[in-house]
Amino acid sequence: MIRFLESYGRICLPQGMRRAAGIEANSRVKISVEGDAIVISKCEHRCSNCGAPSIPGKKCDLCGTPN
Ligand SMILES: [Zn+2]
Repeated sequence: MIRFLESYGRICLPQGMRRAAGIEANSRVKISVEGDAIVISKCEHRCSNCGAPSIPGKKCDLCGTPN
């Protein structure tokens, strides 16, 4: 599939691809570069202390542990 990249670098991810990857609207995604490809994947970062979903570099909402 080929999509148009908007002037600010935005792109719409097709719903079918998001569903297949388990990525829901308003969820966090991980963006990385692998060679000449940009890879968008489901963010599955978890707190190192309690295992709750968390944001890298922020304190865990559940236990307060820095992640
Ligand atoms: Zn935690």
